Amino acid sequence: MFCSTCGNQVNDNAVVCPKCGCAVSGRQMDNGNAQVPNHMVGAILSTIFCCLIGGIVSIVYASQVNTKLAQGDIAGAQEASRKANGWITANVVIGIVLVVINIIVTAASM
Ligand SMILES: [Zn+2]
Repeated sequence: MFCSTCGNQVNDNAVVCPKCGCAVSGRQMDNGNAQVPNHMVGAILSTIFCCLIGGIVSIVYASQVNTKLAQGDIAGAQEASRKANGWITANVVIGIVLVVINIIVTAASM
């Protein structure tokens, strides 16, 4: 079969394409067709609008979801997904707190 990402011909038993490292789609279906949300969009948005450091941590976990899924590590992918979601939530809370503090400081200085 062929890699759906780069078109490289790969072994039918391969889980990951040896050329580009992406999960081979045909094999991924065999892994119980697991759907684990990677929260990547939320992670990127929280990085832009809230806190850079916490956002980067959530992006790291979000990217681990797809990596672990490609390796067939469903439990690991779910764990990374849960951590990514937790960091995004914490990041949004921190972002809101910072905005509130900013408003209070601005109001106090007027
Ligand atoms: Zn490939």
